[in-house]
Amino acid sequence: MFIAFEGLDGSGSSTQSRLLADRLEKNGMPTLLTKEPTSDTPIGKMIREILQHKWSASPEGLQLLFSADRAEHLKNEIEPALEGGQAVITDRYLFSTLAYGGMNVDMEWLKGLNKNFRLPDITFLFKLDPEECIERIAGRGSHFELFERTDKLAKIWENYERIAEEFPNIQVIDASKSIEEISEEIWNLVRDALY
Ligand code: ADP
Ligand code: MG
Repeated sequence: MFIAFEGLDGSGSSTQSRLLADRLEKNGMPTLLTKEPTSDTPIGKMIREILQHKWSASPEGLQLLFSADRAEHLKNEIEPALEGGQAVITDRYLFSTLAYGGMNVDMEWLKGLNKNFRLPDITFLFKLDPEECIERIAGRGSHFELFERTDKLAKIWENYERIAEEFPNIQVIDASKSIEEISEEIWNLVRDALY
């Protein structure tokens, strides 16, 4: 089973991807928890440096890197794990490219670039007001990256909503609830799908 977590920065998706991975493991399901951009890879490193303004890339260049990162991620990590019977949870995936990348780059071009990539069996899309996202990010004490501004987040959310209508198996999660409530809700949905 291939599961993706998506949503605005600060919506709590990384927190829940970790909780679900722990829970699957505790229930005897070997699980790969992974993320995009990937860690410890040359392309992932380039992407992070652009997001941190260490160097500047064209919008198209950045999106080509995200898609290249995804191609390698699928081939080297996701596909082998799924073939080996593991559950795979990815913290961000293709819909992040469309929602975030679609801000500056033609959405149809992005869809074309990504059209041969496997879609998740289920995507949890975290819905939270941009203002609340920003508050949570501020609480987290990390540096604001390129996309982490309220007005931008609102537009990115509009892209996500369009994606949720167009692509299959996207479950919108009310991310304003407590960490425990959301974790229960997600666990119930995954358990129904698995067992
Ligand atoms: P994302 O990966 O979507 O950017 P994170 O999981 O990193 O979000 O969470 C951002 C911050 O919000 C963290 O400080 C986290 O502890 C907090 N947080 C996550 N989920 C919730 C929640 N349901 N309610 C309140 N705070 C939360
Ligand atoms: Mg995150």
